[in-house]
Amino acid sequence: MRKTFKYRLYPTGKQVQALCGQLGEACRLYNGALQERRDAYQYAGISLSYYDQAKQLKDIRAEGDCELANFSCSQDVLRRVEKTFQAFFGRVKRGETPGYPRFKSRWRYDSLTFPSYGDGCRLRENGKLYVQGVGEIKVKLHRVVEGRTKTVTVKREGGRWYVCFSVEVADLADSILYEDIGIDLGLSSFAVLSDGTVIENPRWYRRAQAKLRIAQRRVARRKRGSKGRRKAVVLLQRAHAHVRNTRRDFQHQTARWLVERYSVIFVEDLNIKGMARGMLAKSVSDAAWGGFLQLLRDKAAEAGRVVLGVNPSGTSQTCTCGTPVPKTLSQRWHECGACGLSLARDHVSALLIRGLGRSLVSLT
Ligand SMILES: [Zn+2]
Repeated sequence: MRKTFKYRLYPTGKQVQALCGQLGEACRLYNGALQERRDAYQYAGISLSYYDQAKQLKDIRAEGDCELANFSCSQDVLRRVEKTFQAFFGRVKRGETPGYPRFKSRWRYDSLTFPSYGDGCRLRENGKLYVQGVGEIKVKLHRVVEGRTKTVTVKREGGRWYVCFSVEVADLADSILYEDIGIDLGLSSFAVLSDGTVIENPRWYRRAQAKLRIAQRRVARRKRGSKGRRKAVVLLQRAHAHVRNTRRDFQHQTARWLVERYSVIFVEDLNIKGMARGMLAKSVSDAAWGGFLQLLRDKAAEAGRVVLGVNPSGTSQTCTCGTPVPKTLSQRWHECGACGLSLARDHVSALLIRGLGRSLVSLT
């Protein structure tokens, strides 16, 4: 499965010039290859293939006739010509009368493809994008590129520049990156994983909650049976629906993310109802753990993954070494005097949950 990640590039003036120069060279090569095919067909009745053209590339470049900096990128240009012609002949075969492949204007030749990541174009450790013949370009990486990058395309679009990473995402069935994971459903965050990953509560939540309260108060103020109250009730229902939908989206995303990564997931077997009655009521219902765990189980079952509940008692008061480390609810850090383990409280809980889960698995 292929997936594309697109990011905005911020080239300097000089880099824009260099990029335009590269695009211009690619365009010249494209048109040259097209011309050669036309001539061969017209004068000799032969249709040239990609290989016929690609084997000339070395000489052309050696003679300095093509200043496209990267060799594979030049090959990609020829492949584009090949594709255009295949589409053309395909249409002819089907009895259509397509227009003969046309030359491209250098103003409309807008992209360079690097067919194998790392060859001529790659993300550097400083977070910049290296493009051969251009240099290191500033890029806004607003999200992480997931999966193995196969090809990279640098694009001009409406006066702006972008880079697209085409990434191979394995099918769910064989995409196990890690064997097992323990999840501690948190209070200050949504969840903490045994590898230390923190899944934050979504930011929209508090805001939505405040809106909900306002809508509730409005209903309470209006007179029973009045038209105004009916209106306020509709608004309140809408606010509730909004919170519900947004929460479901978040839970779906999170559950999918976990199932994509782990084959065995250990969670606390919480008596959610019991907890919701106590003083933790708000936090518990906030994070809506029960609904989430159900969703996680469903998604795991679909993907052939396992979700196992373990008894969580003591996971907040013990160390991974077995030493009791009592903590009050407000103590968020775990400090073990016996083994020296010093970690966030929820992280330790997640580790313990994974440990309990592993012992359960090895028992059965
Ligand atoms: Zn310890």
